Amino acid sequence: MPFQELLKNRELSHTRSRVRLMEVLSEAALPLSEMEIEERMKGECNRTTIYRNLSALLNKGMVQRIIAGNAFKYKLLPFNDTKRPAHDHVHFKCTRCNQLVCLQEIMVKDYSLPEGYRKTENQFLILGLCKNCNHD
Ligand SMILES: [Zn+2]
Ligand SMILES: [Zn+2]
Repeated sequence: MPFQELLKNRELSHTRSRVRLMEVLSEAALPLSEMEIEERMKGECNRTTIYRNLSALLNKGMVQRIIAGNAFKYKLLPFNDTKRPAHDHVHFKCTRCNQLVCLQEIMVKDYSLPEGYRKTENQFLILGLCKNCNHD
């Protein structure tokens, strides 16, 4: 389904900058930080527009916000799949090259919390060296 349609389905206006943001996120092999998004959209629209669009997509559950140490990274979620809890797998951040990788095959456990606590998100981040950096 084209991005315009997806936005319409979720009652979001399909502005050019919003569609471009979805394209940028979907073309990236890995989740992107705000800075990386900005770099890829340089000259196309300003920061404020990027952040406004990001938070609109987040609110509609179309984008996943992943904790990546000292920053967040963003990923476009599979469209048929937004009902599923968004943070179901473990993420790995390489401390050398700073890449954030989805470890789809490792599921996050559903921990039971002490009385009185309520979970809104379940994220699990492993830090270390990725395949490319883990030599010598
Ligand atoms: Zn690495
Ligand atoms: Zn992921």
